[in-house]
Amino acid sequence: MQYISTRGEVDPIGFRDAVMMGLARDGGLLLPQFLPTIAEEKLEQWQNLTYQQLAVEVLSLFIDDIPRLELEEMVDRSYAAFSHPQVTPITKRGGLYILELFHGPTLAFKDVALQLLGNLFEYQLGRINGQMNILGATSGDTGSAAIAGVRGKKGINIFILHPHERTSPIQALQMTTVLDPNVFNMAVRGTFDDAQAMVKTLFNDLAFKDAYHLGAINSINWARVLAQVVYYIYAFLKLLKRGESSVDFSVPTGNFGDIFAGYVAKRLLPKGCINALILATNANNLLTRFVTGGDYSKGSVVATSSPSMDIQIASNFERYLYYLRDENGRQVKQDMADFADTGALDLSGLKSQVDQDFLSRSVSEEETLAMIRDFHNQEQYLLDPHTAVGVKAALECADNKRPVVCLATAHPAKFGAAVMAAIGEEPQLPPALADLVGKESRCEIIDADPELVRSYIKQNGLQ
Ligand SMILES: *Cc1c(COP(=O)(O)O)cnc(C)c1O
Repeated sequence: MQYISTRGEVDPIGFRDAVMMGLARDGGLLLPQFLPTIAEEKLEQWQNLTYQQLAVEVLSLFIDDIPRLELEEMVDRSYAAFSHPQVTPITKRGGLYILELFHGPTLAFKDVALQLLGNLFEYQLGRINGQMNILGATSGDTGSAAIAGVRGKKGINIFILHPHERTSPIQALQMTTVLDPNVFNMAVRGTFDDAQAMVKTLFNDLAFKDAYHLGAINSINWARVLAQVVYYIYAFLKLLKRGESSVDFSVPTGNFGDIFAGYVAKRLLPKGCINALILATNANNLLTRFVTGGDYSKGSVVATSSPSMDIQIASNFERYLYYLRDENGRQVKQDMADFADTGALDLSGLKSQVDQDFLSRSVSEEETLAMIRDFHNQEQYLLDPHTAVGVKAALECADNKRPVVCLATAHPAKFGAAVMAAIGEEPQLPPALADLVGKESRCEIIDADPELVRSYIKQNGLQ
């Protein structure tokens, strides 16, 4: 399989190079040259595979430059870090299916992709005898999952900036208590936006970027999307085994990352297996406005109890736009230039096509907390606020002609304050989180000045 850019100006490259490139060199996002399809007969054969075996089958549709044995070995190592034998188990509650994606080392769904990405980076760097310094800013979840994905890996150092005392205490501990010598945490006296701006400054200094092999680990990497496609297919096969031939998925999303993986899964499976993809947003409703009216226009970010979805530019949206525009890279390039100029795109002319793929609902703060409370009372099951947004959207949007699978993207204990506000008690900390309190930690506290990060990387980076 070869990979091309959504903006049409990158010569086709193989999977390994696509993983290392991250963002396409023409500013677009990488996609496979075509989307393969899974034949009907395969579904029966795949029904009894373990998560890991299925992952290898699905990944192999998109990867032909890594020997199968090596791929199997990487997949096994990636998911050995999960605490549930099924990796992403599914449970039925109150007429809905909950797909639990939070059994990884940092208890959020980002582990599913970042555990694999860390191993892919290490594999490729080993082949080319290369080195990489990963640099990123986080408001909480992504940083800890990225650190967990690359801790102790050869050829990789990771530098993660977080806003000092502005993440939840547990989120900070999940990062700073990782003491592997290749992990460097910096707490910035400032906001997440300050930290993000510092990272951007260094990436824009191309001489520095090249000299220190700076790498990113954000959600635009194709390997992250690909790793997430697997659990949609896994969940569908579980329900197929129970006699269901068509399902809906409800997905709480901000960056269009997780839901785009669902779109890819829908295109891979035979027609009708995945019916609707319900795109659930919080008060930051950019994507809901797009689905329901074709209005893709930036608003200002509002802080909610589901902070990992407090986003007003969906970095993976361009991938879906490419298919909406009939794979016309020049048109996508024009669209993205227009969006950069005006902060808005009118896509209402394409609405009938969007309707084939998505339903959408924006869920308010009150509805989110009420959903956590009701589900806890009625089903004795605690939803985290992101998952609650998806469950609420499912109840409002689905036509109930087929099962609905709701993606549970984080463990509720990661968002104790929201749970407290909803049900009046703190969630019980699972051992992985409880053990963090009082552990030795390591972190540099710095002012919001990119030069401090530059000299820190010069001192501690691989070269
Ligand atoms: C990152 C995140 C999301 C949103 O994921 P997208 O890639 O933006 O779709 C939802 N829930 C949790 C808990 C997250 O960490």
